[in-house]
Amino acid sequence: MYRNFAIVPRIIFGRGCFAQVDDILAERRSDGGSMVFILDDVHRGRPLEGRIPLRGDDAILHVNVNDEPKTSYIDALVAQIREMLPRLPDGIVGIGGGATLDIAKAVALLLTNPGSAADYQGWDLIKTPAVYKVGIPTLSGTGAEISRTTVLTGPQKKLGINSDFTLFDQIVLDPELLAGVPKDQWFYTGMDCYIHDVESLQGTYINEFSKSYGEKSIDLCRQVFLEDHPDKDDKLMMASYFGGMSIAYSQVGACHALSYGLSFILGIHHGIGCCIAFDQLDEFYPDGVAEFRQMMARHDIALPRQVTVGLSDDEMERMVTVALGLAPLWENCLGPDWQRLMTRERARGLLQRM
Ligand code: NAD
Ligand code: ZN
Repeated sequence: MYRNFAIVPRIIFGRGCFAQVDDILAERRSDGGSMVFILDDVHRGRPLEGRIPLRGDDAILHVNVNDEPKTSYIDALVAQIREMLPRLPDGIVGIGGGATLDIAKAVALLLTNPGSAADYQGWDLIKTPAVYKVGIPTLSGTGAEISRTTVLTGPQKKLGINSDFTLFDQIVLDPELLAGVPKDQWFYTGMDCYIHDVESLQGTYINEFSKSYGEKSIDLCRQVFLEDHPDKDDKLMMASYFGGMSIAYSQVGACHALSYGLSFILGIHHGIGCCIAFDQLDEFYPDGVAEFRQMMARHDIALPRQVTVGLSDDEMERMVTVALGLAPLWENCLGPDWQRLMTRERARGLLQRM
């Protein structure tokens, strides 16, 4: 069976296109309705906040992403919006990095679906379309702007709400919004994209559809991280989009599986966690890891080391369990025989080196 997947139907791209957000939203406004802007609090008081086209009873909700989004945080934001507004908003507009985009998607879904965000972690559990939602990235690499998931940490698991309803209705790709991202963060989130490409292109699930996007994305990543271009932000924004499109029809691999273990036990954020894991995966991705190290050297990035030293036996075992629980990622990396190849001992050995 081939997957019949949905994509984001409306996209605007270009320097300065943020100025058109007001026009874009105008078509969606109802009489007496309002828009809720979910803004990464890093932008609080910055010029971008002043450019948000507020009308009538529109509201800005500042969100903090020091911790990756939790289901309890989504539930609290949904309750806050319900209290604040007499009826459902006309739309939710997320402005920020991957975490903020995920928060916006999840809030839009939970406004129309009853219960807690934790009830919907999994595949195709959402039954009712979300309210209209718009994603505006200010940090590029995750592909969250085009993916059909919102990654959340719940009481029991870190797992996305994966569904066709999760996709944004509109994305606004304005490369000018990437200005001001701290260098290390820019690198880690950019490498998330590079690693998506390597894992997709080298995986056993690869097909011409994914390859077409993955090859373009990795080419753009090389231009961004190994060359000098004045329009590098434009390139990274498109690399992120294409990288996301590539994995939509394939899968990520060993690096993402192991990084989920790091994240679940140690709370390490996605981009940096992927970098820490990838640096130890020469045996799976020799060319990709060598090139990644060139990129690190060129940008003078020093990765944290030995993050798993000092963990208890029980914590190491839980980390292995989380990583090996992601069967499709391992199957993509190693083929149908992956369970024989990736034993608990081997996975533990890899994590111990990180
Ligand atoms: P992020 O959203 O966690 O942001 C990282 C930091 O950068 C934050 O401190 C944020 O405030 C700051 N920031 C964002 N934009 C900025 C700007 N323009 N200037 C200055 N600072 C800025 O980082 P990320 O790497 O984009 O996203 C990681 C998150 O995305 C994780 O929660 C991960 O689970 C999720 N993710 C989702 C998908 C998906 O398909 N939905 C895919 C991969 C990762
Ligand atoms: Zn990723």
